[in-house]
This record gives sequence, structure tokens and C-alpha cells, in this order.
Amino acid sequence: MDYEAVIGLEVHVQIKTKTKLFSSSKYEYGAAPNILTDEIVLGLPGSLPIINFKAIKKTLRAGLIFECTIPNLCKWDRKNYFYPDNPKNYQISQYDNPICSGGFVEIELPGPARNLMGQHKKIALNRIQLEEDVGKLTHDAIYSMVDFNRAGVPLMEIVSEPCMATAEEAFAYLTSLKMHLCYADISDCDMEKGQLRCDANVSLRPVGSRALGTKVELKNLNSISGVRNGLEYEIKRQKHLLESGGTVKQETRKWNAETSISSPMRSKETVDDYRYFPDPDLLPVRLETELIDQVKLEIPELPFRKQERFFEKYKLPYTLTSVFYPHRELCDYFEAAVKEHNNPTAIANLIANDILRELSAANSFGQMSIAECKISPLGLANLVKFIDDGTISKQLAKEVLIEMFKTGKEALEIINNKGLTNSLDDGTLRSLCGDIILANPKPVNEYKNGKLTAINALKGLVMKETKAKANPQKIDDILRKLLD
Ligand code: ADP
Ligand code: MG
Repeated sequence: MDYEAVIGLEVHVQIKTKTKLFSSSKYEYGAAPNILTDEIVLGLPGSLPIINFKAIKKTLRAGLIFECTIPNLCKWDRKNYFYPDNPKNYQISQYDNPICSGGFVEIELPGPARNLMGQHKKIALNRIQLEEDVGKLTHDAIYSMVDFNRAGVPLMEIVSEPCMATAEEAFAYLTSLKMHLCYADISDCDMEKGQLRCDANVSLRPVGSRALGTKVELKNLNSISGVRNGLEYEIKRQKHLLESGGTVKQETRKWNAETSISSPMRSKETVDDYRYFPDPDLLPVRLETELIDQVKLEIPELPFRKQERFFEKYKLPYTLTSVFYPHRELCDYFEAAVKEHNNPTAIANLIANDILRELSAANSFGQMSIAECKISPLGLANLVKFIDDGTISKQLAKEVLIEMFKTGKEALEIINNKGLTNSLDDGTLRSLCGDIILANPKPVNEYKNGKLTAINALKGLVMKETKAKANPQKIDDILRKLLD
């Protein structure tokens, strides 16, 4: 029998807000333990929660981006469980009236070749609910320690339908989710800082069957590729079990990225164990049309629409657009430069090949951020102008760019200081071209016999001789005139 995998992901995303979901306590990653709490976070007697409106608006922003249905009303429920990371012994969450339901996340699967666009697909969402984060436990050989700083931080739980079929799709789904949430400034989605966490559910069923098989929940997936690797392993494990006549046990398993093996953690709780009930301290929230309309205005152009526009408007090839569209600031930078000088291809190439290379070399973590670049979009546009009007060659421009990157100086200043302009006067250039023609009869004869491209060999020699200081177009003109 052939089996197919069914995957559904539960993703927790910390919402970027200054304060927590139900209190004015601040949150900051990496702060000293237990200093960012207050009586509400700790659930001290007499404290009452106050809803953070910013968190509601940002969740609605996500819901609108993913085309979810926004109900008229959402409400808060207590999820009860006893565990040291949970100061109140309940977590405020949403049970039967979440803030968003349905919707989908558009994904792009890898293309058939590096330079070809991939297939776009919609992955259905079940819901997005708002809840508070819990504390963080750390264990050493003797002690377990708890830090409540993270408790109460607003979290969106984004639940997909069980509708992905491969680990590759799950990877693309998380990549796209992260890209959209970063674009709209809802979260920074840094997995290393726990801003995005994913549990992956996976089951197998016979090909052709519609019923869902028994699922296993994978935890401790610490990166997007960890999710892919964990799923690939788990699909193989279940397939092997079923093919050897066994059955899959419903359980939660822990992924170990070092050994690339999953192991049982606990058998899964059922909903009844949490004894959900409406939080008596919080009123339901009415989500009025006016509010929704206001949130709609906060949504930027979305990445895949930008990808399409970059193809149409700037005629950039797929390899270039795919460098830009996942990063909103990079797109803005590119477009700001093109506005100053209309040569999208040259500008895109310099950003993608040269600026990004310098940025990642300058940053030891290899994390690029165009915000850290000393070259302004206008500065880059001016550099390209100098190439286009023949002031400097393409080759020299790359050196100027490196200098601009290091010093923050303008192209013009660097060119003048270094005497980099095409300073050879026409007479010198003409006599140099003459010398090269005399010294290289082979390409000259080829050219005379009709192989016009032979001129490139001569051009290369002149360029070399002038140390790329001469304008290539000018060399071309002179050589042609002399040869003809
Ligand atoms: P639970 O109550 O165990 O948390 P849910 O129905 O809330 O289960 O689903 C949690 C996640 O598991 C969702 O993302 C859903 O798509 C996924 N899921 C549910 N059933 C299956 C299944 N049989 N196989 C794979 N994924 C599943
Ligand atoms: Mg669930």
C-alpha cells in the first residue's frame, strides 16, 4: 500500500508590542530574569487584566493579510493547567470565539530551475487566536529555573488546516508566514529569540483515502529547516511502522536536531484536561467595521504582489526579483534608487551582487540589513549615472562602490580624489588604439574578413592597457574608425 503524508502546523508568533497582552509590563528579549513582570502577569490577588489594543490591531492586520473571516465579536477563555511556567495556573487564550477564522497563506514552492519561478499555492488556515505567552524554564544538572519575563507577552497562534502534503510545503509555508508578518511589522519572527515557534502535526493515510490518520505532534523544532528535517524523519518513521504492520500511537514527540531523531515526550492531553471556561475578568471584544477599515490602511503591498510588479514594471529576471521581494526594506531601497536614475537592471545588479556581498562580509553573522548600508539610494543612483554617461567603466564602478560602502563618501568625491575618471585625452587614446592594432594582426585580419566580434579582443587589450580608465564606448568608436 502507498501512503501519503498530511501535515498541519501550529505556529506561535510573538506580536511586536511595547507592553504585554493584559498589563503595562514591558518585554525585552535577554533582560535579567524576572524583572519584567507585575502583579497582573504574576496573577497576584486583586489584580485585573487590561487588554492591549495594539495587540488586537496587529492580529487583525495579520488576519486581513491572510484573508481570514473577522467575526463581530471575540472572547477570552481560561486554559487551566498546572505547570511551573504558568504563574496563574491558567493561560488567557481564546477557545470558541477566536479573533480570526479561515483564510489562507500563499506559498511559493521551489521552481523547476534556479532561474524559474516556482508554483504558487494557497494553504488553508483554521484560525488565528490571541493568547498570552508563558514563562521560560531552564534546567541545569541540579535546578530548574523559571523566568516570568516572557509571561503575558502577546502571542498569535496561527493554526493551519491539515492540508500540507510534504515537508517542502511546510517549509515554504513557514517561510511565507514569516515573510508576511515581517513585512507588515507584526513580528520580527526571529526563531532564535523564540519570536516564532512551530509545532508540527503529521499523520499518514493510504493514497486515495479521505479520512485522516492518527497524528503525531512534533515539538522542539527550532528553525524552519528543523521543521522540514523533523517532518521528513517523522514521515519515514510512520511509513516504516505502518508497512511493518504496526500502528501509529497518538503522542507528542520531541525532535533532536543534533541526532536528527524524534523521541516520545508524552501522550497528548485532550481538550477536556484544560477545563476551558470564559474569563470572568475580561469582556468580549467587539470588532467593528470602522476598526477593520482602519486596520486595512496599515497593510503594505504584500511580497508576492511586489514580486509580480517587479517583473512587470522593471523587467527584472526571476533570479533578481527573488533576491528582493522577501525583504521589504531591500525593495524600498531599490525603488528609491530607481526613482533617482531610471536604470533598474544596473541598479538591481549592483545591489544583488555587490552591496549584499559587502553587507554580509561586513557582518560576522552574515545577516544582511540594508539599513546598515552607508550608501544611500541616491548615492547608488549617482554611481550608475556615472557608468551610463561614460565617466567611469563598469569595472571601476565596482571598486568605487566598495569605497563608498566603506567610507560613506559620494561616488563623485572618490572618482575625483583617485583620478579615476576617463582622464585619458582622445589623442592618447587614439594612439594607444593604433599601437594595439599594429601589434595584433590576428584579430585585425579576422575583423577585416567580416568577423566583427573580433574587435572585442582588441577592446579588451586597450582596456587592460588603460587600467579600465577609459570609456569602453569611446574605445569601441576609435577602434572601429581606425580599422574601417
Ligand atoms: P489538537 O486538539 O490535538 O490540538 P487540532 O484539531 O486543534 O488538534 O489540530 C492541531 C493541528 O494539527 C492543526 O494544525 C491541524 O491542522 C493538525 N491536525 C489535526 N489532525 C491532523 C491529522 N490527522 N494529521 C495531521 N495534522 C493534523
Ligand atoms: Mg489545538
